[in-house]
Amino acid sequence: MRREGESWQVIVIGAGIAGASMAAELAALGARVLLLERETQPGYHTTGRSAALFTIAYGPPVIRALSRASRAAFAAPGDAQRPQLLLRQRGAAFIARTDQRCVLEIMADELGDAVARLSTDEARALMPLLRPGYLAGALIDRSAADIDVDALHRLYLRQLKSAGGALRCDAGVVALAREGAGWRVDVPGLSLRAEIVVNAAGAWADELASLAGVAPVGLVPKRRTALLVAPPDGVNPDGWPLAVDIEEKFYMKPDAGKLLLSPADETPSPPCDARPEELDVAIAIDRIQRAFGLPVRRIEHKWAGLRSFVADKCPVAGHAPDAPGFFWLAGQGGYGIQSAPAMARWAAAAALGLPPPADIADEGVSAAALAPERAALTV
Ligand SMILES: Cc1cc2nc3c(=O)[nH]c(=O)nc-3n(C[C@H](O)[C@H](O)[C@H](O)COP(=O)(O)OP(=O)(O)OC[C@H]3O[C@@H](n4cnc5c(N)ncnc54)[C@H](O)[C@@H]3O)c2cc1C
Repeated sequence: MRREGESWQVIVIGAGIAGASMAAELAALGARVLLLERETQPGYHTTGRSAALFTIAYGPPVIRALSRASRAAFAAPGDAQRPQLLLRQRGAAFIARTDQRCVLEIMADELGDAVARLSTDEARALMPLLRPGYLAGALIDRSAADIDVDALHRLYLRQLKSAGGALRCDAGVVALAREGAGWRVDVPGLSLRAEIVVNAAGAWADELASLAGVAPVGLVPKRRTALLVAPPDGVNPDGWPLAVDIEEKFYMKPDAGKLLLSPADETPSPPCDARPEELDVAIAIDRIQRAFGLPVRRIEHKWAGLRSFVADKCPVAGHAPDAPGFFWLAGQGGYGIQSAPAMARWAAAAALGLPPPADIADEGVSAAALAPERAALTV
């Protein structure tokens, strides 16, 4: 028996970083917002499984623009709502072998002054485990930083609540249908109403759209694996930058006294509770040991998460052209944490029909670059 429930102005579906940040920004604009999450805890899926890096030197131009526009929101010390710093200086070094020199030059051109060149001696001083003879050149984004993802996520959930919004967990949307001028949103045992629904369902966003009879955007969830190992005895890696292969075939990042390794895999997967495959773990260790003298005696922890992309690898944020009041917020790929603050402000304004935030537009973000129509065209 399904009970009739409340009416909301906006119901946001999915309480990962995308849904939580947009719900908070909608509430800050005065909207009455309910955030729904299928799991018992928000952040259980991709948001809780990231490498937690912020770098303006990563991703397609629209992501780099959103990330630049997000930086101030991460930094804002002294704000009573942000008692702790959300970013901690790390640096990100893009490392190249001789056969990758050409890629290094292309990337140096494209990224301009977002990165600086490192000589091989400088790189070895920063990353002492680099094998002699491995490196031909490197670029560094010195401003790259570790993100306190959990603190950022909780901050948005607190902001939502203090602005009168609500979060409901164990509330997976099982039916979604147009009703009158708005939407009926069914969760187990309860029917809710909303003028606008936001699809922030992560890897499940296309599935959620099909539940509502809305055309998909061609989202492909891709599994990425990560593992934690101890550094060599007596070595403290805390001051090292993240080291990433210039063609993104692996990366290694200091993480609370350990080293986080990834083979930077991108294996297409149906939406699911992703698990690491032994082969990907072995590939990570093999690729990293070719570059670094890192003995691996034991894997302390391993996990996988889904990074979801549409064909052009840019996010999708905008009203569905085929369904009034259905707003997409999907396809954040491997950059959804670092771009969340600006993405959420942009999307909240767009969902309510307000002008885009000027500081984000000034960085080069446009509605056309994020439009669901452009993603759907390439399906
Ligand atoms: C290994 C790895 C490393 C990464 N590293 C970085 C990094 O360094 N920097 C960075 O910025 N990004 C990184 N990312 C990417 C980043 O984690 C994602 O872009 C971001 O977390 C996506 O957030 P989301 O809210 O869209 O998805 P999710 O966190 O997956 O949230 C979607 C939520 O929707 C819920 N949901 C789905 N269907 C329904 C339904 N029907 N009803 C109710 N709820 C539903 C799900 O339960 C889920 O909680 C990484 C990702 C991985 C896997």
